[in-house]
Amino acid sequence: MTKIRTRIAPSPTGDPHVGTAYIALFNRAFAKSQGGEFILRIEDTDRTRSTPESEAAILKSLKWLGLDWDEGPDCGGPHGPYRQSERQSIYQEHAHRLIQDGHAFHCFCTAERLDEMRKERQAQGLAGYDGHCMHLSEDEVNRRLADGEASVIRMKVPEEGICELEDELRGTIEIDWKQIDMQVLLKSDGMPTYHLACVVDDHLMEISHILRGEEWISSTPKQLLLYQYFGWEPPVFCHLPLLRNADKSKLSKRKNPTSIDYYHALGILPEALLNFLGMMGWTMPSGEEKFTQREMIDNFDVKRVSLGGPVFDPEKLDWLN
Ligand code: GLU
Ligand code: ZN
Repeated sequence: MTKIRTRIAPSPTGDPHVGTAYIALFNRAFAKSQGGEFILRIEDTDRTRSTPESEAAILKSLKWLGLDWDEGPDCGGPHGPYRQSERQSIYQEHAHRLIQDGHAFHCFCTAERLDEMRKERQAQGLAGYDGHCMHLSEDEVNRRLADGEASVIRMKVPEEGICELEDELRGTIEIDWKQIDMQVLLKSDGMPTYHLACVVDDHLMEISHILRGEEWISSTPKQLLLYQYFGWEPPVFCHLPLLRNADKSKLSKRKNPTSIDYYHALGILPEALLNFLGMMGWTMPSGEEKFTQREMIDNFDVKRVSLGGPVFDPEKLDWLN
């Protein structure tokens, strides 16, 4: 049996979000119920939006809630998390390996060309990149690289067929490859995009199960393709239901406070907030609504997660406090 390892991978671009704690709780409960490990990885490759303040606030709020993680190199404490911004050369090596193996290519298209191409393709009902640079000769690519021309690395995508994605909760989800863009994997500044960094890290960090929000379902075909290109076994995917406002729209700060700090400052107890987040998609086998994280771990079964859109209504938080 492979070791059960789960993770959360927040981007430090704002206040610590209740959605991050919700996903963390389910990943931690699942891992701990199986004697496994729960990892924290900071996805901070977007250097314009990531801030150290946001990272510190996320770490602090996870600790406040009792959602401790298991390991990480020593960066800011014995249990410091992994940071993608410190792993750039790993992603670059992997992107170049994909080029060598014929699964990715350099794209020199300018913003103007991409703009025009998109408009033209949209008019024809087509989406995404047109594959222009995929057909450049090796000599031309090498010459343009030697000239110092800016380029990104894009992944190839099957031109037709269906991607079948197995989801632990939802069964088989079919997505037409035609809807999937030739994703940029490495940007011109050498930073990876989310898809490349996520797959490389999930593999190298030996993540066995990915429990994440359903908004990531459309990203999964690209990621499965990357696993296939690298020759790696993909993890088990389980897309959890999104937290919702009372009107069933996606939870948003316009309609509800979403910062963990807000509830902390209000005097809500961490146990109560965690219990409330646990109730978003999960119930104890006994039907009891009040439960601790320990009780959730002791009774956890991923198959018991319900998909009916959980409503995060702060007014209901009070009776747990
Ligand atoms: N960095 C992504 C986020 O902000 C991670 C998504 C995933 O879990 O794959 O949620
Ligand atoms: Zn191009």
